[in-house]
Amino acid sequence: TSFEEVQLTEIISGNITLARYDTPTPVQKYAIPIIIARRDVMACAQTGSGKTAAFLVPILNQMYERGPPHINQGRNYRRKQYPLGLVLAPTRELATQIYDESKKFAYRSRVRPCVVYGGSNIVDQIRDLDRGCHLLVATPGRLLDMIDRGKIGLDYCNYLVLDEADRMLDMGFEPQIRRIVEKESMPRTGDRQTLMFSATFPSPIQILARDFLDNYIFLAV
Ligand code: AMP
Repeated sequence: TSFEEVQLTEIISGNITLARYDTPTPVQKYAIPIIIARRDVMACAQTGSGKTAAFLVPILNQMYERGPPHINQGRNYRRKQYPLGLVLAPTRELATQIYDESKKFAYRSRVRPCVVYGGSNIVDQIRDLDRGCHLLVATPGRLLDMIDRGKIGLDYCNYLVLDEADRMLDMGFEPQIRRIVEKESMPRTGDRQTLMFSATFPSPIQILARDFLDNYIFLAV
């Protein structure tokens, strides 16, 4: 199997080649077509399985296919950003890794990724957001701070990813995650596309999946 089997737009498949990804890993092979078919997914996948590209490639592909994003060029540009996709991650390290990977796949696509996480200068992060943000990678606490400061609006967030959901719960982020996902501005379950990745599938994760996902496909690799 190769990445050519899924019909990815030229820019994205070119970027996969530039990243020297040759053969999809199992989670990529199964998740990418399902995500392109707009289904919600609950995937049990470990770090190292290639799960990051499994959600970034189809999301960036769909963002690009639906036309170059215009929403952030409106009159709110430089005041408040409305990302089209949001990836929540438990730690600064993971958020940075996802962001680095998203830059590779978004290259030349006009989709602009950003990352925000706690424990680091918020002014610098705001300055970067001000340059445009179509895909936001964030840790939950810092994202809530950005929302409270009026820097981020979730009104157009069509893609939501919870990465390493079990770790986020272990770190006590469930209240923050619920506050984010249940924000009035966030598109409802079923209106947005939601993807959850977790190494394990204990009952607290099953409950989150039940609450956040719509008629989801369960993948275990
Ligand atoms: P992840 O599980 O997403 O953290 O990915 C683990 C590592 O594998 C990262 O360094 C990726 O860049 C790399 N990787 C993911 N998918 C592929 C692939 N299809 N081919 C080659 N390397 C990959």
